[in-house]
Amino acid sequence: MRQLSTLEKLGILADAAKYDASCASSGTAKRHSKGGKGIGSTEGMGICHSYAPDGRCISLLKILLTNHCIFDCHYCVNRKSSNVPRARFTPQEVADLTLSFYRRNYIEGLFLSSGIVKSGDHTMEQMVETARILREEHDFRGYIHLKTIPEASPELIHRAGLLADRVSINVELPTVAGLTRLAPDKNAGTIEHAMGGMKQAIEEAKDARKRFRHAPRFAPGGQSTQMIVGADGASDTDIVGKASRLYGNFRLRRVYYSAFSPIPDASAVLPLKRPPLVREHRLYQSDWLMRFYGFAADEVVAAAGPDGNLPLDIDPKLAWALKFREQFPVDVNRSSREMLLRVPGLGTRAVGQILASRRHRTLRLEDVARLTTSLARIRPFIVTADWRPTLLTDRADLKALIAPRQEQLELFG
Ligand code: SF4
Repeated sequence: MRQLSTLEKLGILADAAKYDASCASSGTAKRHSKGGKGIGSTEGMGICHSYAPDGRCISLLKILLTNHCIFDCHYCVNRKSSNVPRARFTPQEVADLTLSFYRRNYIEGLFLSSGIVKSGDHTMEQMVETARILREEHDFRGYIHLKTIPEASPELIHRAGLLADRVSINVELPTVAGLTRLAPDKNAGTIEHAMGGMKQAIEEAKDARKRFRHAPRFAPGGQSTQMIVGADGASDTDIVGKASRLYGNFRLRRVYYSAFSPIPDASAVLPLKRPPLVREHRLYQSDWLMRFYGFAADEVVAAAGPDGNLPLDIDPKLAWALKFREQFPVDVNRSSREMLLRVPGLGTRAVGQILASRRHRTLRLEDVARLTTSLARIRPFIVTADWRPTLLTDRADLKALIAPRQEQLELFG
């Protein structure tokens, strides 16, 4: 077989990695190479994200070590029964590429995943070796995210955590039934067991660093995971519930949602059409509600329709407010932070500003107007010194009055 050039391998293995959404790099430790020590940085202008038109992060070299795989996950373009061109990098090749891209200022770090070759252990060893070459031989201080393989031995996964800024283990699908059907070689128990081990190691390392300044860092950017949306019959209620349990049980930094995209040469068990991208967006909004707005998972899903899915035409916070109108209006001069955060159109920053301003004076509608992009949307849900919505909050047509208008896209706009 003809040997592929590095560029050809890069074409295949970067393309194969684009289906993974979990590559944001926030929250890691600050390192730099000021003073001539080492190479790379995770701070200042170092880590910033730009996104390709399809929404994928391109500030990291996002690549697979190989797209050969012994598993046969139906939703994956790299599954063993898929008829795609295959390629494989050595750890040294990935390290060299990362360094040369870094020096050219193309990237801020490396996001490395892989198909499984020979075994979970063999593949994990190769990934760890790549990170080791970068960190130990080149003193690379840029960002490294390693996707770990739950089937690999705990020792290897631990080594990955010692070298990487962030690690992730994909749960892939929100339900055990979905995973069994679409990823028959994977096991939900094994995945969660690996996540549990990772959580414990991260907490132990944090604890050790509080007591010993030179204790080794362990995945300072935490662990994350990804769920595929729309490949199986799971509803948004299933997905939100799963995400909430993952945050609670494993202290994940992020759960990423990736709308299933039909792949070339697709398996017959998959849907023919991708779910609307806005569904992925609504799930990110619901995730935000749980992480920053004090919503519990069962409150978020209370906004879902009878099919268990969140509405697509309005965001989940507005859907919740319209469904639970008895909670409104909220007095911006008196209500708690928790209740202010439930007002559609008020973000965490606006709520912070309201709380700070009302210590000095009584707020009027025009004060709130300065903090929001749409006063019309907010008015039915608040009381100010000079405004009370009276019947507006209970109007049957309230949704039509305040929901963003659905606009027809212009063909030549
Ligand atoms: S393990 Fe499954 S999801 Fe991962 S590369 Fe192999 S076939 Fe794809």
